[in-house]
Amino acid sequence: MQTSGENGAPVATVSAPKLVKFGHESAFARDLHTRADAYFSTTHQPERGLNKMARKTAYIWLWFLASWAALVLLDTPWWTKLPFALSLGFAVAGIGMGVMHDANHGAWSTHPWVNRWVGYSIDCMGASSFIWRTKHNMLHHTWTNIGGLDDDLELGSLSRMSPHQKWLPLHRAQHLYMWLLYAFLVPKWVLFDDFWNIGTGRVGPLPLPKMDARDWVVLLTGKVIHIALGFVVPLLLYPWYFALPIYFLVMGVAGVTLATTFQMAHCVSTAEMVAIPESGRLVDDWASHQLRTTVDFAPKNRLLSWYMGGLNFQVVHHLFPKICHMHYPALATIVEATAQDHGLRYRVQPKLSGALASHYGWLKSMGLRPTA
Ligand SMILES: [Zn+2]
Repeated sequence: MQTSGENGAPVATVSAPKLVKFGHESAFARDLHTRADAYFSTTHQPERGLNKMARKTAYIWLWFLASWAALVLLDTPWWTKLPFALSLGFAVAGIGMGVMHDANHGAWSTHPWVNRWVGYSIDCMGASSFIWRTKHNMLHHTWTNIGGLDDDLELGSLSRMSPHQKWLPLHRAQHLYMWLLYAFLVPKWVLFDDFWNIGTGRVGPLPLPKMDARDWVVLLTGKVIHIALGFVVPLLLYPWYFALPIYFLVMGVAGVTLATTFQMAHCVSTAEMVAIPESGRLVDDWASHQLRTTVDFAPKNRLLSWYMGGLNFQVVHHLFPKICHMHYPALATIVEATAQDHGLRYRVQPKLSGALASHYGWLKSMGLRPTA
C-alpha cells in the first residue's frame, strides 16, 4: 500500500527540472499510511484483485456491447435509437471510470500484465492508454490543480479553469457554453489529441515517453476498433446524416459525463488552485496538497459510486491510486479521521446536486474579469 505517485516512488521525492517539488512527507501522510495498512491487515482484504471487480468489469462490458448491438445492428424504428445511444454513451464513460481507470493505475489486479490488458479497454474506446497514463497518472495525479502542470486544467483558450490562466472576455459566458464543449472532448481526444501528442512528442510540459512496437500495435488497433464500431459499420447500415449525429451524441454523452465527474472534484469553489511557486518547491507535502486541491462528493450515493468507479471519492483516489476503488468508502472514513487528527481539512460535498452547482459557480467566477 502506498500514498505515492504513479511511478511507485514516494511523491515527496518527485523531481524533474522546472517541475514543482513538494515538501517532505508530513506526519499526516505517514499516519494515513499506517492506518490504511492496519485496515487491510485487520480486514484481511486484498488491496486489488477483487472478484467483485472482475464481475463489475464484465457487467460494464456487457452493457457496452449490448448497447452498441441494439443501436447499430437491431432493425428498430429510428426513435428507439435515442435511448440506445444514451445507454451506449453512459457505458463508454462507465468503461472509462469503472474499468480502465483502475487498471491503468495498477489497481485492478495484483498482476501487472492483467492491469495492462484490462487497461486496453480505453484503447478499444479509441483513446490511447499509453498517452493517458502520462497525461493522467503523471501530470494530473502529481501536480493536481497546479496551473501549467495539471493537464486537466488545459482545455483550450475557450475555457478558464484556474485564476492563473489568462482571462478573455468570452469567458464571461463559459458557465453556459462549457457544458457543450465537454461533449466534444472525447471525439477531439480520440480523433485529434492522441495524434497531436505523438506528432509533437509532448504531453503538456512533459516529453512523451518512447513508444515501443507493442505500444504502437495497441494504439493503432484501438483506433481501428473505434473507427470500425463508430463509423464503418454504422455507415454501411445507415445514411451518413443519421450515423454521424448518432456518433457525436454517443461521444457527447460520454464526454459530458467524464468531464463533469472530474470537474466536480477539482474545479469547484472548495478546491484550491495553486500557482507554480518561484522557488519551484511547495511548502505542503504531496498528500496535504491533495487534500487542498481535491473534493469528494455524494459519498453516500452507492449507485453513483458504483457507476463512477469511486471517482466521487477523488480525494481517496488521489491518495491511494493503486488501491481498487471498491475500498474507497472505507478508506474515506480513515482519510477524514486522520486529516481531522492532524488539523487538516478533508473536503467533501454531500450531494451530487451541490457538486454540480459548485462547478457551475466556479465556471462563472473564473469567467469574471480578474480585479488585479
Ligand atoms: Zn486517476
